[in-house]
Amino acid sequence: MRAQQPEILSDLQTDFTHCIDGVSVGSNEWMDVINPATGKVFARCPKAGKMELNLAVAAAHKSFKEWSNTSYQDRAALLKTFSKALEENQDWMAELLTREQGKPLSQAREEISRGRTHMDLLSKINVPTETLVDDNNRYIELRYRPLGVVGIITPWNAPINLALGPIASALYTGNTIILKPPPSTPLTTLKMGELMCRIFPKGVVNILAGGNEIGQLMAEHPDINMISFTGSVETGKRVMASCATTLKRMILELGGNDPAIVMADVNPKEVAKELFLASTINAGQTCVAVKRIYVHEKIYDAFCEALTEEARNAKLGNGLDLQTDIGPLQNITQYEKARRLLEDTKKSGARILAGGDIPESSGYYVPPTIVADISDDARLVQEEQFCPIVPVLKYSDINDAINRANDSIYGLAGSIWTKDLSKGAELASRLEVGTAWVNQHRGTLSDVPFGGAKQSGIGHQYSIIGLKGYMQAFVLSVPKK
Ligand code: NAD
Repeated sequence: MRAQQPEILSDLQTDFTHCIDGVSVGSNEWMDVINPATGKVFARCPKAGKMELNLAVAAAHKSFKEWSNTSYQDRAALLKTFSKALEENQDWMAELLTREQGKPLSQAREEISRGRTHMDLLSKINVPTETLVDDNNRYIELRYRPLGVVGIITPWNAPINLALGPIASALYTGNTIILKPPPSTPLTTLKMGELMCRIFPKGVVNILAGGNEIGQLMAEHPDINMISFTGSVETGKRVMASCATTLKRMILELGGNDPAIVMADVNPKEVAKELFLASTINAGQTCVAVKRIYVHEKIYDAFCEALTEEARNAKLGNGLDLQTDIGPLQNITQYEKARRLLEDTKKSGARILAGGDIPESSGYYVPPTIVADISDDARLVQEEQFCPIVPVLKYSDINDAINRANDSIYGLAGSIWTKDLSKGAELASRLEVGTAWVNQHRGTLSDVPFGGAKQSGIGHQYSIIGLKGYMQAFVLSVPKK
């Protein structure tokens, strides 16, 4: 185990503030932020307590009436201005994101771009008022109204992208927001808050950093009307219990253990290249990363060899180094979890084809590791590993592969890899997940709903279905005589 007291750099970056009621404000308390590439504290930011949260909620509550009476067009215009501001500030923000999160700079830039795309596309969707009945007797209309104050709670693996979808959805539909980033990656979100403070009317956007307890207070708060939560299944269950105290609406986007099933008709090298990226992007810390690969016995050895080659060629390093393919894990808890999974895997007798040895470093580096001949009940197969350790499992019968892929508490996404697209579609539709792809993985789009089956979540983000999750369906019924 690592020493729990990280070194603190002397030139700490401290120019961070909360955005509460349209004003950039500090706090009496501070939080340290570690750069996972070095394991050292490189920045310090304000830490909100109950008082700051209550001020933010009061501001969001107060501004709701006026904001919800603005038009969709006006709200879309402000989101556009904000998207433009993000574009103008993207370079330094991506660098800050890499410093706090660890991912390679190119992926940090892509994260901001993806988030901007969500904002740009979501704010073009028409939320219609629907006429349900219009006859001689009655006129019945279905409208969608904003809920009020939406609390947005984000995870550390992609704190900007996973904030921008909910931000756009909540604001565009006429809600006001309180956003809390995770304690280990609060910085880029706080900088985003400074930009938003200047663009949106006072009180509409409130962003504050804090510990897990602030998330819980948000979920329990009587004046927050909805929680949009992205994070682990374990925390999702706690959020659901907290929301129950006030019967709050919620969207829970939770963890996954995505299977990819590779059929015998593919080119093993080509598919191994794609699946290596899909399982190790962001060092495997992606909800829809491929986390288990089932390969037909006919091509199992060739596929494992090609995947091993990919792992050996991938460069592990500091995300700020432009040659880096895979950065460090984001935090020490995740790093220790990966170490334990690796030890457990080694003890299980599975074959480690690439990686497997954690380098001596003060940063949280885990090399891409390919594991073959592992049993279905191993922890690495059963759990969401959230690191670049990838199990490859053999199958001979496709029905057996589908059953094994479905044998999970998770149901976020999955994929089938084959040259036979109609067979692929038929098999993909048998996966018990929220999204199934053929010959791709991770391709979420702003105009397509995204959400988990089973314990991977409740509700959806993105598309008109996602937007309606931030609204109350309202029926107006008027007699004609
Ligand atoms: P986490 O659940 O530990 O934390 C997420 C957020 O919840 C943080 O901001 C944290 O401070 C807050 N929190 C902690 N305890 C809370 C409580 N009791 N009440 C309210 N909020 C609380 O998750 P993480 O480790 O930051 O993120 C990784 C997990 O997120 C993985 O499981 C990953 O699969 C999942 N994830 C899911 C999606 C998706 O869209 N389905 C996307 C990204 C990540």
